[in-house]
Amino acid sequence: MDPEVRAAHEWFEGNSGWAPPDEDTLDEWAADGVSKAPDDCVTTVEGTCSHGLASWHRVLAALES
Ligand SMILES: [Zn+2]
Repeated sequence: MDPEVRAAHEWFEGNSGWAPPDEDTLDEWAADGVSKAPDDCVTTVEGTCSHGLASWHRVLAALES
């Protein structure tokens, strides 16, 4: 697991937990070339927010792999 994805999971444990955006929202973000991190920071689809958390796209892709 990428360190940033791991950091996101650690964030879930310390915060309100697991609340991924729905698929339509993720697709809209991706169409604009953006994503959000679990702490609501705007980042890129393949990016990491300024706090070191992976984007939702990365977190969810890691679950599927
Ligand atoms: Zn952040």
